[in-house]
Parts: sequence; C-alpha cells; structure tokens
Amino acid sequence: PDLQLADAGLWRCNAFLAGAWQAGTGRFTVHAPASGETLAEVAALGEAEAQAAIAAAEAAWPAWRAQTAKARAALLQRWFLLITAATEDLARLMSAEQGKPLAEARAEVGYGASFVEWFAEEARRVHGETIPATDPSKRILVLKQPIGVCAAITPWNFPLAMITRKVAPALAAGCPVIIKPAEQTPLTALALAELAQRAGFPPGVLNVLTADGPGSIALGRVLCASPAVRHLSFTGSTEVGRILAAQCAPTVKKLALELGGNAPFLVFDDADLEAAVEGALAAKYRNAGQTCVCANRFYVQDGIYEAFVQRLAEKAAALRVGPGTREGVQQGPLIDAAALAKVESHVADALAGGARLLTGGRRVQPADHAGGHFYAPTVLADVTPAMRCTREETFGPVAPVLRFHTEAEALAAANASEFGLAAYVYTRDIGRVMRVSEGLESGIVGVNTGIISTAEAPFGGVKQSGLGREGSHHGLDEYLEMKYVCLGGL
Ligand code: ADP
Repeated sequence: PDLQLADAGLWRCNAFLAGAWQAGTGRFTVHAPASGETLAEVAALGEAEAQAAIAAAEAAWPAWRAQTAKARAALLQRWFLLITAATEDLARLMSAEQGKPLAEARAEVGYGASFVEWFAEEARRVHGETIPATDPSKRILVLKQPIGVCAAITPWNFPLAMITRKVAPALAAGCPVIIKPAEQTPLTALALAELAQRAGFPPGVLNVLTADGPGSIALGRVLCASPAVRHLSFTGSTEVGRILAAQCAPTVKKLALELGGNAPFLVFDDADLEAAVEGALAAKYRNAGQTCVCANRFYVQDGIYEAFVQRLAEKAAALRVGPGTREGVQQGPLIDAAALAKVESHVADALAGGARLLTGGRRVQPADHAGGHFYAPTVLADVTPAMRCTREETFGPVAPVLRFHTEAEALAAANASEFGLAAYVYTRDIGRVMRVSEGLESGIVGVNTGIISTAEAPFGGVKQSGLGREGSHHGLDEYLEMKYVCLGGL
C-alpha cells in the first residue's frame, strides 16, 4: 500500500546493526490491523545476528562513554529535531502498522520525541556526590558511570515512544543499545534508526534487531544470557516479563520492567460529572483501550452512578470508529484477531453474569475494511468483582462500571489486584484527594485527569506491574551505576 511518505528514505525493511542495514536470512510479514493486508516483508534475524549486535555494541561502548555528555547531548538533540521534522511520515507509518488514529499517532511522535529532548538536556546533569567522611584522613566520592550495553524489548502499542523512553536515557548516560521492537510494529522502529543514522550516532551505538514472534523469543534468550548485556528494559505483558526476569537471573542483569496494569478509575459523588466523563473517555478509549495505563475498571459512587454511566455511554457511542489513517477517525482497530477475541470473551462473560450493556458490545466492520479488527466502544453497567473484565486487563475499548458506597470500600476494591501501574480518581474534596492518592497501591495516580504520561515525570508501577521508572531525572539513573571511591591517606 502507498503510505504517501514525503521522505521515502524512512521506509526501511531491513534490520540495523553496527551502522549498516542487514537483510537477514529470512523475512516476516507485517500486517495492517485496519485491513489485514500485507504492509511489508521485514528482515527476520536470528541468534547469530544477535551475537553480532552485542559484539558491535560492546565495541562501540568505550568511545561512546568517553564522549563528553555535551557531545552526546548534541547528537540526541539532532535526533530529536529529525524525528520532529518527520512527524507526519512517522505518524503515517505508525498508524498503518499499529492502527491508531492519525491524530493519536502524531501525538505519539511528539510524546516519543520529548524523551529524546528531555534526556538530551539531562545528559549534562549526571552529577556525582561527595560525602563527608568520619575519618579525617579520608574523602568519600560517588561517581556515576554508564552501566554498559543495554537491551530494550518493546511492545506494539506505542511503537515509537516505548523505544525513545528507553533508548534516549541509555544513550544520554553513555550506553550503547540493542532494540528488539515488537514483531507487529518494526517499521516505526526502523524509521527511527534511519533518523538516528542521519543524526550521526556512531556505528554500533544504536542497533535494531527485527524478528517474528518465535524469532523474538530466540533473540530474547541471547540478549538475556549474554554477560556483556548489563541492562534489560522491557515493556510488555507480565507473563513475558516474568520469563525475561528468570532468563536474566543467571547473569544478574539490572532489569527495568513495565508490565501489565489493571487501572482503577474512581468517581466520587462530589466529582464534576462532565470532567469525569471526559477523563474516562481519554483514559479508556485512547489507542482503542490498548495502553497499560488505560482505565480497566470503573468504580463509581452510588449517588452519581446512573448519571455517569448514561453520559459515558452517550459519549462513547459517538466516537467515530474506522481505519486510523482516515482523517477524523477517533478509534482504530485492535491489533489482531486474538485481541478482538479477548475483548469479545470479556464482554460475553460480563453479560452472562448479569452486566447491563449500555452501548457497543459488538464488532464493527467498515465496508471498505472488512478484514480489520474493529470493536465498538462499549460501556457495561452493574459489573461485579468476579467478572473477567474486572480481574483481567481487557486491553480493548470496554468500560466496565461497578458501584460503591464508601471511600474505604472504593480503595479496598481498587487495591484488590496484583497490578499497580496507574490509578485515577475524580473528586473535589482536597482531603479525599490526599487520602486516596496515598492509599492507592499504584505507581501513578491521576487526580481529576485522565492523561498522565509526560517525559518530566517518573512512569512505572508497583506490585506485579513492574520494576524501575522511566522518564524524569530518575529515568537516567536506571542506566547509571554508582561507584564509591574511598580516598585515603590524605
Ligand atoms: P503483548 O502482549 O503486548 O503483545 P508481549 O509481552 O507478548 O506483549 O510482547 C512484548 C515484546 O516482547 C515484543 O517485542 C515481543 O516480541 C517480545 N517477546 C514476547 N515474548 C518474548 C520472549 N519470550 N522473549 C523475548 N521477547 C519476547
């Protein structure tokens, strides 16, 4: 299909290794989720190329870490400007391979690029410490040094931002990186590599290994097993996160994991109803519900319950569903048939258990996109804690709404999950804002807002939602080791 890219050089289907494009030994197919058609045949790399990438990154490390922070920052800044200038093309690529509406894809380019800009700025603020010693003949110094070769395994839901959020701080710190993008969305990753090459990063400093599903598992094993790889950052499912953590145990690798969420969205009687509904729409239906911070379960207080579900259903029903590349579309397709089947099974389970369907609850098939995986924005009322849509992450455009009476009951219900990434609360009572924010077992709390992600703030989860934080000045620490130098004999 013709994506009408202004810059044809951003169409890359080979992997990027040691500063060169690699065709690999086989190819795998990338499909457009809006139509099912073939978009591209991309290089399928194997274990040998993974070893070669590790060797290239290792070889590039000494010179890269020896560059001044200012020099690394300048390269990152150039990459940022190139990404920003290519916004429209990157958005088209992303929308085609991932399915999200063009408006969301453009916003993701801005969001993804903001990490490159932020860490370009932070690169020059890696400060060590001096600590007063109790022995007058000694001094205590703390140096911060790059951890070494880093691997980043990223998901399909944010094909650009999940890469820059890991790669920019690694590069800023002085670490080379090996990226293994999701098999569904390698084209955006490869376009980013093209722009990195134009920015002038030295060969081996940034590598992109592409592979299909089984190939990704094989590459993952090599990256995890290698003692040269000192850090693995992964965003994806909790199941795969557990596998990777186990695979990294023998080499005691430092791990950053951004895993599943099951975000609760609490609405109290005193909330501004319209604001809560707008926040709910943003937190639920963005990316067709396929984000790890998407509201997965809504708990609404008795007094506002009926008004909230009716208004939410009205607004959800009005969202325009269609291929993301079509201007004006607000909700694109789900990523694949399995994602669609999961959403259908969650809705069927809820309806069988007595939930009330207010809108949606069905597939959508635009006439000219019959092969796409579209599902109507759905609102379910009278949902119970036992239903699958409450217990599991649906990762689709379904809003299950439960009823509560007291603050204590709402907090207990919100915390009754093994996950703890994002949580949302709508209330205008300042005391409750503090009590609930402190009481929620999550890494992120959105108070009277449904949009929380930004490069300046630490993003990450507690419990089985993950380890570590991305973004903010803390995001750079992930890629730095502290070295204590004890200076004696003064
Ligand atoms: P999702 O459920 O969002 O598809 P996954 O956790 O399955 O998320 O995949 C996220 C990323 O992890 C993708 O890049 C995928 O290729 C990769 N991946 C999946 N399984 C493994 C594995 N066993 N080892 C290494 N990488 C894996």
